[in-house]
Parts: sequence; structure tokens; C-alpha cells
Amino acid sequence: MTPPFPAAAERYEAFRARVWGRSTSHVASRSESRFALNETRQNIELDLQAQWFGGEFGKVFTGTDGEKIEIVQFGHWNRGAGPDFTESAVRIDGELRRGSIEIDLDVRSWETHGHGSNRNFNDVVLHVFKDRPALNRYFTCSEEHRNIPQLLLPQFTGLEGPPDFLPEARPGRCIAPLAEMDDHEVGELLDCAAQYRLRLKSERLSVMMNATDPDQAMFQAIAEALGFRMNKTAMAILAQRCPVSKLLKLSPAEREARLFGAAGFLDHAGLESINEDDSKTYLRELWDRWWVMRDDVQLEPSRAIPWCFHGSRPLNHPQRRVAALATVTNQWEQLRKIWVQHVNNFEKDVNNSFNNPPATYWNHHYTLSSAASENPMKLIGKDRQRDILGNVILPGIVGLGDDRENSAWVSYTQLRGAAMNQKLRRAGLRLFGAEKDRRKLFTSYYHQQQGLLQIYHDFCLEDASNCENCPFPEQLSQWRSRPV
Ligand code: SF4
Repeated sequence: MTPPFPAAAERYEAFRARVWGRSTSHVASRSESRFALNETRQNIELDLQAQWFGGEFGKVFTGTDGEKIEIVQFGHWNRGAGPDFTESAVRIDGELRRGSIEIDLDVRSWETHGHGSNRNFNDVVLHVFKDRPALNRYFTCSEEHRNIPQLLLPQFTGLEGPPDFLPEARPGRCIAPLAEMDDHEVGELLDCAAQYRLRLKSERLSVMMNATDPDQAMFQAIAEALGFRMNKTAMAILAQRCPVSKLLKLSPAEREARLFGAAGFLDHAGLESINEDDSKTYLRELWDRWWVMRDDVQLEPSRAIPWCFHGSRPLNHPQRRVAALATVTNQWEQLRKIWVQHVNNFEKDVNNSFNNPPATYWNHHYTLSSAASENPMKLIGKDRQRDILGNVILPGIVGLGDDRENSAWVSYTQLRGAAMNQKLRRAGLRLFGAEKDRRKLFTSYYHQQQGLLQIYHDFCLEDASNCENCPFPEQLSQWRSRPV
């Protein structure tokens, strides 16, 4: 039987700490890997801004001059030129300052981007960045030569998920010691790694909930889950630009218009070029609602949300993801009850929230301009529902720290596995090699898949020696000799 929450997570955490001789989070290296990707600098910066605004770094910090910094109000995403976040409130050494916040990857971007000579940046009260030169000190000064407090972000606390780049899969050196372990032992290892991962996700959500607002943190996390890997950040930004509290004040049709408009998908000029009658009708309805609200929401081109249109299935086109977020908003009260109230069957409740949705344009269309498909399509299928439950709702419940922690964990272990993806296949190949039956046995459940990904992340992605120096194979005997 799986140890209860949080005993299994603690066992895996202690194992990791013993193996690596440290107990610090692996998040920094993961973040570095993420930033090593071949992404544009602008997208990386947007990623960082979304993490900041989502509250992933928390809200209490120490500035580069030792000041005590507390974010009282994160402010608003700027839609136009100027600093990234406006109408913010920051308490610095007890003094409340109102103004804007600028987020850069590197402290020097303040000057290289010309902010120091731009009067639009004169009301900046805090300059946040993740890098600075090791030797020289760079100050942040406004056009009026006012010194602006600086904040070098601490270690990333977020769970961005495994990096997008994964090395080629090849059988690993740990196959032999894992093959010596019986199924129960391997199952327990995966259980403990999965519980650890669940706890990390719950911690990320707790930080976000405390830093922003519990409903908004959950809304953003669900949006991320809907975005898959390719559009996770874009969906997070959309959720931040269209907070759930504001969407709930609108009618369902207005919500959809606001989301599509803020996403940058409503182009009036494009309306005329569409031939499909139902696409034209639907788009016109969206546009009619959007144009009355767009002055308050529309982004200037340089701040457009960075959607990724390549490499995903047609069913997961970004426009369908936005429609899915509108569906989530329409079901918000029902969904919300699942984590704020005691329910008996989490999975059934999540499925009930999404089953039998009203007929919509998106039942038969891949995009805003595509011809209708004959076969109906679900906006939020079974796998997404499971991911929303496993990646957001159950971690959210664990993060609340009430007496439902263990029942959330038990429900987590009962979720059937999601469809195999490239990451899981690679992880399975590395740890279990050609043993198909074992791979299948240990990836049948969602939590096993998550445990496998955690081990892959903690060891395979830390390794740069083609397994030779990886401590995992030798340490497995330690694992076996120290049961809970
Ligand atoms: S890096 Fe370590 S954990 Fe990964 S396959 Fe190689 S030996 Fe196994």
C-alpha cells in the first residue's frame, strides 16, 4: 500500500537529498535548461513576466541593497508602450510606493532598451530581473536620475514542467538495478516520486494563491493545462490579461469575445476574407461584442501574446484552446466547488463539469475560419479533464493544507494514465529499456507517469555523462534498504 501523504514525498525527497548531497530544489537547473532552449529573447522575457504576475516567486523579497520588499499589488499588465506592469503598489522598507514595475531578463536591459532615457518609465518603483553581471554593479535610474530599487529574483520556485528539450532516448545504466527490483519495489519508488511531484505542484499553487488570489491562481493553472506544452505560457498570459473575476461579470458570449479579442484573434479586416457562412456568422458575433470592449483590453502589437501555431494537433489549435478556456469560465462555479468543498468523487465531479456542454461552433471547427468538419469534436476531452484534475485541482487541494490532503492523494493514485507522449516514452525507454510489459505496467496510472517524469527530471536531465556518473543506479540499493 502506498504510504500516506506526505510520508512518501518525504521519503523521495530524502533520497534525492542523499543522492545529490543537497536538499535544495532542482528548479534552478530546470529553469536554466528551459532558458537554454532556442526561444526568442522576447518569449523568454514574457515567460518570466507571466511567472512574476502569476505570483510564482511569491511577494516578499530582499532587494539588491538589502531592502525589505513586499509586493502589495502586482498591478496590471500594460497593454501599450511603457513599463510591463502599471498601477502596482510596493512596500519598500515599510514605505508604500505606487507606480509601475519593469521586468527584464538582465539588469542591463534597462539601459540597452532605452528605459533610462524614456519618460514613460519615470514612475517605475521597482526593477525586477533574473541576471546581473558578476563583477560590476549596474544601477537603475529614471530619466530624472531617480534611483529605482532593484530586485534580483531568487531561485525560481515554479514548476514549469519538464524542459521542452529532451535528449535522445537510449536505455540507461539504471535498467539493470531496476530489473533486479521486484514490481512492488519499483511501484513504491514511482509512488514516492509521484507524491513528491504532487507536493511540488501544490507548493507552486500555494505560492501563487497567497501572492495573488486563490481563484485566479487556479484559473491560470487550468489555462496552462489547456495550453499543452506549446501554448502554456500564452494561455497563462491570457488568463492574467482576462482575470476570472472580470470574466464572471460578463455574459458567456461576452466572455468568449473578450478572450478571443485579448488573445489577438479578432481581426476585423480578416472577417471579409472568410467564405464559410457559419465561421462568418460566429466571427461577426464575436466581433460585435468585442468592439465595444476592445479599447479597454486590446494590446498594442509589441505586447501581443506569443501563440505557437506549429507542432500541435489541429484539435489543439490555439483558438480552440481559447474556446476551451471560455468553457472553463462558464463552468467556473461548478469547478470551484470541487476544491473548496468536500466532494466524494473528484474525477466524477470534474467530468460532470465538462460533459454535455451546450452545442457550440467549436464542436465542428478547428479554427475561426476553417470549414466545418463532419465529426463532432470535444473542446476538453478526457485527457485534458484528467490533467486538469491531476495537475491542478488535486495539487490545489493538497496546497490548501486541510484534512483532505490524503484523500486527494488517494484519488490521484486512482487516476488512469494519460495518453503516452514523447516525454513519457523517452523516460520509459531510459529506465525500463526494451521491457515493454514493465513499461506498460508502470505507466498505466497517472501518478506512475508523473513519478517516472520526476525521476527522469531529477536524474536523466541532470546527467551529462551518458549515464556514467549518474548516481541513481548505485543509490537504488540505498532506497531498497530504507523503506518508510
Ligand atoms: S541518467 Fe541515470 S537515471 Fe537516467 S537513464 Fe542514465 S542511469 Fe538511469
